[in-house]
Amino acid sequence: MKKIFMMLLVFVLSLPICSIGSAFSPQSNTVTPPKNVILMVGDGMGVGQLEVASLFEHGKEGKLFLESLPQVALARTFSNNNSVTDSAAGGTALATGIKTNNGMLGVSPDGTEVDSILDLFKQHGKKVGVISTHMVVDATPAAFTSSVKNRWDGQPEIARQQLKNEVDVILGGGSHFFQPEQQGGVDLIKKYQEKGYTYVRNRSELKKYEGDKLLGLFHPSYMSFKLDRDDLESEEPNLIEMTKKAIEVLSKEDKGFFLMVEGARIDHASHATDLTSIWKETIEFDDTVKYVVNWANRDQETLVVVVADHETMGITLTEKLNVEALKKIGVSTTFIASQLKKKNHSEEYTTKSVRQAFKNFAHIELTDQQIHSFNQDIIRARGKVYSAFQTEWHIGSTISNYYHGGAINLENRTLGNTGGHSANMVPVFAYGKGASIFNGVINNTDIPKNIAHLMGYEMYRE
Ligand SMILES: [Zn+2]
Repeated sequence: MKKIFMMLLVFVLSLPICSIGSAFSPQSNTVTPPKNVILMVGDGMGVGQLEVASLFEHGKEGKLFLESLPQVALARTFSNNNSVTDSAAGGTALATGIKTNNGMLGVSPDGTEVDSILDLFKQHGKKVGVISTHMVVDATPAAFTSSVKNRWDGQPEIARQQLKNEVDVILGGGSHFFQPEQQGGVDLIKKYQEKGYTYVRNRSELKKYEGDKLLGLFHPSYMSFKLDRDDLESEEPNLIEMTKKAIEVLSKEDKGFFLMVEGARIDHASHATDLTSIWKETIEFDDTVKYVVNWANRDQETLVVVVADHETMGITLTEKLNVEALKKIGVSTTFIASQLKKKNHSEEYTTKSVRQAFKNFAHIELTDQQIHSFNQDIIRARGKVYSAFQTEWHIGSTISNYYHGGAINLENRTLGNTGGHSANMVPVFAYGKGASIFNGVINNTDIPKNIAHLMGYEMYRE
């Protein structure tokens, strides 16, 4: 009898302890999980890019908005097989907490599929979305929404996985990979629509949208550089407009959400040493951070983390940098490259078109000898890493050298497999609920691990 009484007593005592433990934990000293997490990735955005953008926009003593965020850390970005990461392994580290090999997306080095932090939010009943000014099937957004062993031939598959995984909001470039020609005759956009998605193609369609499953593809390839949008009469939304709509859609149901926002073209501008575009792209990203933090400030239940996947080209603010001359350039080096004309039956550009392009857009008078070297440098770089971009990259390097910019030199950019990424540590900024966990020198893999820890989610362990 006494034994039964003791067992009952233990049972009764244990009941309220368990329920009190969970019911009252929000009032205890432990941090309650944020309801929403917005992870913002400035692709290739190191401290040099921030310094250039800040000086160009706000002057020597001015500051970017993101500098006002209360928590700051530095992240190391090496990948599993290289001290310098590419965007695939860098994105995978930020998405899954695993260091994989360059070129791999959402898989461990042995090819095992790994759930991302976005998948964990989805599994816990939250809404999820990705935004990129790159193609939505490329490295950073893909690392959060898919798993493929090779980023270069996996893009059509990534587009299918994003549908299968029912990512609620997908916004960016890359419509090319959703077309029947890339999808074995299947119209993938139609498949999205059949599953309840609305497909939007430009700024005004995006603005009008009011549903809860959104696919927005605004360019066949990358979205246009900010500098070029007017010249191209672009109808693409900017990063703030996409972010605003994504938050509106994801926050509608009050379940909480995870959103990844990528300012991707900071990296592309950096590869080209296009300091003017680095300025414009970084400021657009910083303005978006400001919008997001103000939203989180009103919401009071959101964590905002701002990171980079790696640094690109060792961009440095040099003593003799001619800021005024660079600020007068009105288009990207991609645009300038589109204005060059090739000689008949030759890989060389005509002296006239090179001379005129540099004069008109960059206000530089090149000598015949300089134009000859420009052509020879591009021909030498053909067949090497990122062959298709060599013209715009050489235009950027020529302009940057002329105006005393600091960056990795032509030869080093051509030798590596990443086209000029560096292993420099990248800055991390955090604001909002749970932000204090982000401090000190951390690994890129700690970012999703910290978020999972705050949420009480279990991440894949190696
Ligand atoms: Zn990158």
